[in-house]
Amino acid sequence: MGFTEASALQRCKEDAKSVTNCQNAASVQGVHALSELKMGIVLQARGGGHRVQDGDSIVSCHVRGKLKKDRLYTDLIATGDRVHWRPIRPGRGVIEQVLPRETQLSRLRPGPQRIPLEDVIVANPDQAVFIFAIRDPEPHLRLLDRLLVIAENNELPAIICANKIDLEDDERSAHDMFDLYEQIGYPVIYTSARTGQGVGQLKERLLGKLSVLSGPSGAGKSSLLNAIQPGLGLEVREISEVTGKGRHTTVSVRLWPLDGGGYVADTPGLREAGFFDIDPEELAWHFVEMRPYLSDCHFSSCTHTHEPGCAVKVAVEAGDISEERYDSYCRLLEGQ
Ligand code: GDP
Ligand code: ZN
Repeated sequence: MGFTEASALQRCKEDAKSVTNCQNAASVQGVHALSELKMGIVLQARGGGHRVQDGDSIVSCHVRGKLKKDRLYTDLIATGDRVHWRPIRPGRGVIEQVLPRETQLSRLRPGPQRIPLEDVIVANPDQAVFIFAIRDPEPHLRLLDRLLVIAENNELPAIICANKIDLEDDERSAHDMFDLYEQIGYPVIYTSARTGQGVGQLKERLLGKLSVLSGPSGAGKSSLLNAIQPGLGLEVREISEVTGKGRHTTVSVRLWPLDGGGYVADTPGLREAGFFDIDPEELAWHFVEMRPYLSDCHFSSCTHTHEPGCAVKVAVEAGDISEERYDSYCRLLEGQ
């Protein structure tokens, strides 16, 4: 069981971003002069033992006591963290080091002395994939806008998947709904889990990356995951049913390894994520198409709602910014 140092390094080579991590691993191993220190990724952070991937099996790891003093204002270990760990007995290990996070999907909450504490939902995500159906259920694009703001706030590239394209007689109208997002720079993949259309394209986008998935239930996420990797969607759904709806804030997210490399994390609770860590003055920045206008408003503290000389409102009136997106902006600003 377990992968050797050589295969761990090989795995990392497949992931260009990890090359420096591997170099770190090598030097840490030099310091400890121990052969059994391994690289791993936390598939799920949880109190009773963090689930760390060890080749095809999973090891339950606790954290070396001295590490617990670090990272006072963020989670010590989060799903997606890359760690160096040491086996202690079959199926059990101890995490010796957590590598610095390159990216994160997180939210802030008020802590002692008003210093915000960070809840990390997923560490080291490469991208967010938002799955909506073009029909059944009707796409709720204001929800999509909300999710895109969360992605922008976390500086995560976002991809939109418009599923159930088979339900459209005239494919054009699905494009009418989502073209706007392509125009402002978000890739849109049109898929059908039923016919397989676009599934290969989606798979290609997921392979080798850590992707955070979200979207309304019923949009076809499980079906798409099953189409990409038989059984995966069923597994993901079973687990989210066991952990219970509405409790996603207390149950940590899991990573699901993809056969060809990469991971997906299902974050159904993301849409309920609060916005308290987004400064109202920053909100417009998270609407990417508003960015070029923000420095042209008359007032530097412009909220782009009622102020005279607002460049954003002029752009909306001229049709350069869509009214729907502007409406989403106003609703989010009001805390809706
Ligand atoms: P989830 O809640 O997002 O995981 O959605 P499911 O995968 O459970 O799909 C919800 C319903 O939509 C099921 O009845 C699926 O059979 C159906 N469905 C999923 N994908 C498609 C699709 O591409 N086309 C059509 N016509 N139905 C789909
Ligand atoms: Zn303005």
